[in-house]
Order: sequence, then structure tokens, then C-alpha cells
Amino acid sequence: MSLHIHTPLIESRSMTLAAGPTVWLKLDALQPCGSFKLRGVGHACEVHHARGARHFVSSSGGNAGLAVAYAGRKLGVPVTVVVPETTSDRAKELLRLEDAKVVVHGSSWQEANELAQTLVGADDAFIHPFDDPLLWTGHASLVDEVAAAGIKPDAVVLSVGGGGLLSGVVEGLKRNGWDDVPVLAVETEGAASLHAAVQAGHSVELERIASVATSLGAKRVADQALVCVREHPVQSVLVTDRAALEACERFLSDHRVLVEPACGAALALAYAPGKLAGYQNVLVVVCGGATATLGQIQDWLKQVD
Ligand SMILES: *Cc1c(COP(=O)(O)O)cnc(C)c1O
Repeated sequence: MSLHIHTPLIESRSMTLAAGPTVWLKLDALQPCGSFKLRGVGHACEVHHARGARHFVSSSGGNAGLAVAYAGRKLGVPVTVVVPETTSDRAKELLRLEDAKVVVHGSSWQEANELAQTLVGADDAFIHPFDDPLLWTGHASLVDEVAAAGIKPDAVVLSVGGGGLLSGVVEGLKRNGWDDVPVLAVETEGAASLHAAVQAGHSVELERIASVATSLGAKRVADQALVCVREHPVQSVLVTDRAALEACERFLSDHRVLVEPACGAALALAYAPGKLAGYQNVLVVVCGGATATLGQIQDWLKQVD
């Protein structure tokens, strides 16, 4: 038994009509904690639990922290999540609903993360949000499920933050013999750490994140993301915050599922006319995200250009 669920794979008629190719949605927004993160985080937590870990520590106030909190509750392992003061009340509330101990510390993620590291004792496990081979192996199960459904896409669209999802999906494509299936790796313009790394030829640290897609806000991608770009056909694509937000609204209306702008970034590519021309069957990873409300998405839409 794994901690994540097998999510539905459905055809999106509205996206198919907008995009041209048949668009398949892997609905990981329906994971119990609201995002794909549970695949990798759940796997990592199970492995650490089997090795005797007695306490999980996370420094993510977002979907990674939520996945750790959920996994810990299911495994009967206490969880501490250290978050910066900027974390929304909603995110803290969601963490507490999963019985995690929430410690608020520092004005930035870096400061929260530093304190979190000091809380990791000998019998504890720190669960990273994106940079850990255990996570990638867990995320790869998403591709296994698509293969088991008998659908081979000729392209995969997904969002990139720190590159954990990208690394896991590429691992999944490889282990299913789909080395020829390209990945369209989407970021918002203000959180384009993969794009910057691809252009520089090595990982670079962005000075700041300037995007409403906070779950894509890793200033530097994992080195593994660049390994993926070298070893697999990966195309880096950018969308605006506005396009990501509009995609969230449209997706809610089309499919009755609310996702974060981080996920809206990938959806925006499928809604943009012509961007997927030339493909027949495109798989869009609906990575989800539990931290945004409809009201917030509407407020952001009034603020962005
Ligand atoms: C974490 C997250 C991402 C980005 O995943 P990475 O593994 O950091 O690249 C995208 N969307 C949502 C909703 C997320 O929670």
C-alpha cells in the first residue's frame, strides 16, 4: 500500500478543442493532500519510516510540507514543519489539520530552513521538497499509471519549481521505455530558474522570485533537473502570471477543480492556441496545489499586468 492514490486519467474535451491534439489530464490535484507531492514525499517518508525514523522535519509551508504532514499522520510519525512569517494563515491551518507541529520562524524560507536543520536529530528524517532521489522515484509512479492505462503520449506538459516533478517524470518515462517522449517544462516568467539554468548551461541562483506561482519559487533548480535536460528531450517554456491565473479560472469552470497558479502554468500551455500543434496525444500533469483560494486567484488577476 502506498500513501498516494492512483489518480484519474481523463480526456479534456475543452483543452483538446483549444490545443489541437487530444489532451489527457493526469489529475494529481485529487491526491488526498491536494498535489502530486504526496507521490515522492510519501515514498521518502515510507523509506525513512522503515529505516526507523521517529520524527519528520520539513521547512515547506506549501504542498511539500502538507504532504509530509499527511504522510506522518498516516504512518504515526510526528511531524514538525518550520515556516517563515510570510506563510499564509490558510497554509498553517492546513498543516495543523494534518496534526503537524507548525513552528513559525524568520522572514524568509532560508531562515526557516536553517532552524529546521537544527531540529533534525539522529533518529529523525528531513524531507526535502524537491532535491532527493527518493522523491523522484516516488513521482515516477505517475508515469507508471499512465502506461498501465495503455495510453502513450507523444509529449508531456508539466510545471517546474525546483525540478523534482520533472526529474521524477523523466525517471518514469525512462523506466517505461519512453525515452523518446519529450517533456515541455513550464515555468512562470518570474520563477524561471530552470530556464535560466538551461540558458547558462549550469544551475544558477535567481536573485528573487517575482511570480504569484509561489509553489514554483525555487531560486535554484536541483542539479538533477539539468541532468534531465541533458539526457532527455526537455523543452523549457515560459508563461506569464496572467496566463497561469486565467488557466486556473478556466480549468475550474471546465473541470470543476481548483488548482494553484503553479499548476495553472502547465494548463496555460494547453489552453494557448497552437502551442501544442504537431502533437497527437499530449499528457498534461495536473499537479494541483492546496494553498490558493478562488478569491485569491481573482485578487491576483486584478493585480497582474
Ligand atoms: C511543488 C509544486 C510544483 C513544482 O514541483 P517541483 O518538484 O518543485 O519542480 C508545481 N506545482 C505544485 C502545485 C507544487 O506543489
